[in-house]
Amino acid sequence: MKAIFDDRQWKHTPRHFMANGAILPNPEQAERIDILLAGARAAGCEVQAPVDAGLGPIAAIHSAEYLTFLQNIYARWRRIEGAGEEVIPNIHPANRGDSYPKSAIGQAGYHQGDTACPIASGTWEAAYWSAQSAVSGADVVLGGERAAYALSRPPGHHAFGDLAGGFCFLNNSAIAAERFLANGLRPAILDVDVHHGNGTQGIFYGRRDVLTVSIHADPARFYPFFWGHAHERGEGAGLGYNLNLPLARGTDDAGFLATLDAALAQIRSFGADVVVVALGLDAYEGDPFKGLAVTTPGFARIGAAIAGLGLPTLFVQEGGYICDALGDNLTSVLGGFTEA
Ligand SMILES: [Zn+2]
Repeated sequence: MKAIFDDRQWKHTPRHFMANGAILPNPEQAERIDILLAGARAAGCEVQAPVDAGLGPIAAIHSAEYLTFLQNIYARWRRIEGAGEEVIPNIHPANRGDSYPKSAIGQAGYHQGDTACPIASGTWEAAYWSAQSAVSGADVVLGGERAAYALSRPPGHHAFGDLAGGFCFLNNSAIAAERFLANGLRPAILDVDVHHGNGTQGIFYGRRDVLTVSIHADPARFYPFFWGHAHERGEGAGLGYNLNLPLARGTDDAGFLATLDAALAQIRSFGADVVVVALGLDAYEGDPFKGLAVTTPGFARIGAAIAGLGLPTLFVQEGGYICDALGDNLTSVLGGFTEA
């Protein structure tokens, strides 16, 4: 399997975020890259750099206003007297339809949904190449490969069309799905990250041409709280094309795999001819977020079950944080897919 990654993705080095009122080190560290690259290579992946497909595939998902913000906000922020070293919002509109201000502080609050997506000098470039890795991964699959792995970091599934959040800026999985759609395929996105893929859901919520399915820890008491509940099924033409499968905290391999079967059945019913796996590895029992309790062998079974669909598959890296088995868990899921 080919793995896609660009060295410019190292340039996003977030320092802080706020959790429970405390300022903490940001868990989405660039060092994840080396661990994930080693994990991919151990699964037999050959790593290659993405081709630059330009802004087109990104602008197919994200608003022009938001992309301008991401490209310019750091320089504008640095001109504020006494500003911190990272763009972190401190005020938010109550609704997306509220007035759009000229101020950098106001726009940060509009386009950054929480404190977990700090922007610094290298953020745009890293996010851009993370998205290009997903686009190139899609192109590898479109070229006839059974599967590919995009080491997309920073991750993407918490990013909406005009809103960053949860370590995410550009929705790499959504961008890849749109790439498949533009090439005449019928994509389903299967999100197995421990956190609900709220940005992905939001992007496709009113659409029926991309099925979105997410398995995650119950958001009643877990990030992202406001999205990911079972009753969120899509709206308008998209009603019935969004499936949320929340799990109780601490759910183990057996519970996860039983729910995965339901997710895969929905993907078959949809008639998908390609699958984008939003591959978070933070459902692991030893992940710092401690939402679910999937084991390293459990990830191989997840990979094998996904292979059972018999569809071309693009794995796009989402979450999964530094812990003893992060690399092994990637090896396990890709290896389980390949061997099945
Ligand atoms: Zn996550």
